[in-house]
Amino acid sequence: MGIDSYLISSSVIAVMAQRLVRKICQHCAETVPLTEKEADLLKISQESFPEIKRGKGCERCANTGYRGRLGLYELLILSDEIRHIIGSGGDANQIRAQAVKEGLKILRQDALEKLYQGITTPEEIVRVTRAV
Ligand SMILES: [Zn+2]
Repeated sequence: MGIDSYLISSSVIAVMAQRLVRKICQHCAETVPLTEKEADLLKISQESFPEIKRGKGCERCANTGYRGRLGLYELLILSDEIRHIIGSGGDANQIRAQAVKEGLKILRQDALEKLYQGITTPEEIVRVTRAV
């Protein structure tokens, strides 16, 4: 961004990332098995996610199977360690690795929780988040 890293590390306390996913229409949601291809795309095992929800399409959702949107969030708190990484010219991957070590719940994890709760679909997750 053309900003000196010392300015970022001394003035920013947290960074939040947000993505919007479409929510499954609750009027036509049905339980379906997670396919092998979907499990591969999400890099999860079919055993841990045997079933997901999916809207089959109805009048209320104009046959899209989706109705409404939901935000997925990732909150990165700039700890002393992370400030140190930024200050010494560390890259995004180093910052992320440290943040995960400190308990950062990354977007993909938040997304998978929403999948597990039957709120959104694998396609939506793959569209807005990247694999770990
Ligand atoms: Zn519907």
